[in-house]
Amino acid sequence: MLYPRRCPVCDCVLTETSFKEIVPRVCPECENKLVYVGKNHCFKCGKTLKSDQEELCYDCKNREHFFEQGYALFEYASINASIYRFKYKGRCEYADFYGKEMEEHLGTLIREWNAQALVPVPMHRRKERIRGYNQARCLAEGIAKYTKIPVYHSLVERTRKTTPMKELDVRERQNNLKRAFHIMQDDVKLKKIVIVDDIYTTGSTVDAIAKELKNAGVQEVFFLALAIGTGL
Ligand SMILES: [Zn+2]
Ligand SMILES: [Zn+2]
Repeated sequence: MLYPRRCPVCDCVLTETSFKEIVPRVCPECENKLVYVGKNHCFKCGKTLKSDQEELCYDCKNREHFFEQGYALFEYASINASIYRFKYKGRCEYADFYGKEMEEHLGTLIREWNAQALVPVPMHRRKERIRGYNQARCLAEGIAKYTKIPVYHSLVERTRKTTPMKELDVRERQNNLKRAFHIMQDDVKLKKIVIVDDIYTTGSTVDAIAKELKNAGVQEVFFLALAIGTGL
């Protein structure tokens, strides 16, 4: 093999003993490191709920969303180093592992949506050229491989460069994303769409795209994220 296969969690090179399984996933050290979002999660955004919350998380109770529903796979803290390499260090190959995990853990729920398309959150064209890839598109293609839902990567375009979201609070995030996305078709024939992103925090990005998609004729919008933060 030209490139060694790496553990998608810690990035160590998978040695022969790690190849005992037919499809190697992670190295033995990382086998139990990942924390999946719990069964007790927000009905709207998938965030793990504290025991005293009933159906919706604090955020969804207090803010209206433009999407119908969404799920994330991992608790952010357990996968953040992996996502960092996935985004910034060229490890687009992790998407295969992520996609498979997505199908195994959320496949039944995803199928209930009956969506026709996966739409990755687009990057600004210049930024994508510099990075060489859009990690949300890699992720969407990983999910598509296992769920068989096709990826529509040029349906939405990012028309405005925006400030990195991690530097902003909820209100600033919403303002930051105003007119940031453009739907490339006037009349979208797809009725149900799943937006795909690496991390879900406040939902501002998904909301901004969902709003545009609905203006273009889409009836229902969902999202899938690799990881979700807590306490926002
Ligand atoms: Zn590992
Ligand atoms: Zn929620």
